[in-house]
Amino acid sequence: MNNIQNKVVIITGASSGIGEAAAYKLAEQGAKLVLAARREDKLKSIANNIKAKGGEAVFRSTDVTKPEDNTALVELAKSAFGRVDAIFLNAGLMPSSPLSALETNNWNAMIDVNIKGVLNGIAAVLPTFEAQKSGHILATSSVAGLKVYPGGTVYCGTKWAVKAIMEGLRIESAQAGTNIRTATIYPAAVQSELVDHITDNSTSAGYRQLYDTYEIPAERVANVVAFALNQPEDTNISEFTIGPTAQPW
Ligand code: NDP
Repeated sequence: MNNIQNKVVIITGASSGIGEAAAYKLAEQGAKLVLAARREDKLKSIANNIKAKGGEAVFRSTDVTKPEDNTALVELAKSAFGRVDAIFLNAGLMPSSPLSALETNNWNAMIDVNIKGVLNGIAAVLPTFEAQKSGHILATSSVAGLKVYPGGTVYCGTKWAVKAIMEGLRIESAQAGTNIRTATIYPAAVQSELVDHITDNSTSAGYRQLYDTYEIPAERVANVVAFALNQPEDTNISEFTIGPTAQPW
C-alpha cells in the first residue's frame, strides 16, 4: 500500500534533523515536497539531492513566525504541484535553561517558533483543507509535551501547547466533518542540531551527555511520519511516542 505517492507535502524545519530526514523518506515514497526553513542554502542542497534521485521538491526560505511566510508555502505548493495534501509542522527550537537563568529572549523565541509557528502553519493550510474536504496536518511535539522536567520548563510548555492545539484540531475537524486528519509526534532523544543551540552552559553539557548516550537517527522519526501519512483516508492515527529503546525516561 502506498498512499504517499504523489501527495503534495509541505515540511517546515526541513533544513536539518527530523525535517530533513522526513523529506528524504517521503521523497523516496513518491511525495512531492515543499521544503521550508530559514537556511535557503541547506534547503537547496536537500532539494537537489532529492531531484538527483528522481524525486520532486521545491523550497522556500521561510520564517514560521511570520504568517505571510506560511501562506506563501501553500501558494508555492499550489503553483508548483497544483494542490496541497499535507503539512508537517516540525520547525522548532530548544534553547533550554532553568527559569532562574532568566533567558527571556529564548523563552519568547520558543513560544514564537514552537507555538505560534504551528498556529501560523495551521492557519495557512486550513481554508484549503476545509474547501477540499481532505488534508493531513502533522506536528512534532516532544516527550517534553508529555512530561515536565527541570531546565526544560518553557520548552515543555510550548510542546504541551502543541499537544493541546493538535488534539483540539482533531476534534473540531471531526465534528465539522472536514475529513482533516492530524498526527502529533512525541520524540525523545533524536540526532539533530537541536542541542547545538542551547546557550546555558550547564544545561548544554547535560543535554549533550544525554544525547551522546542515547540519541537515535532522525530517520526513525521520519519512518513514523511516513507511517501516519500512508494510512487510508478513513483512518487517523493521532499520536506517536518514539525514542531510543535505552532512554530511561
Ligand atoms: P534541528 O535543530 O535539526 O531542526 C530544527 C529545524 O527548525 C531546522 O530545520 C530549522 O531550520 C527550523 N527552524 C528553526 N526556527 C525556524 C523558524 N523561525 N522558521 C522556520 N524554520 C525554523 O532539530 P530537530 O530536527 O530535532 O527539530 C525538529 C523538531 O523536533 C522540533 O520541533 C523539535 O522541538 C522537535 N523535537 C526534537 C527532538 C530531538 O531530540 N531532536 C525531540 C523531541 C522533539 P533553520 O535554522 O534553517 O530555520
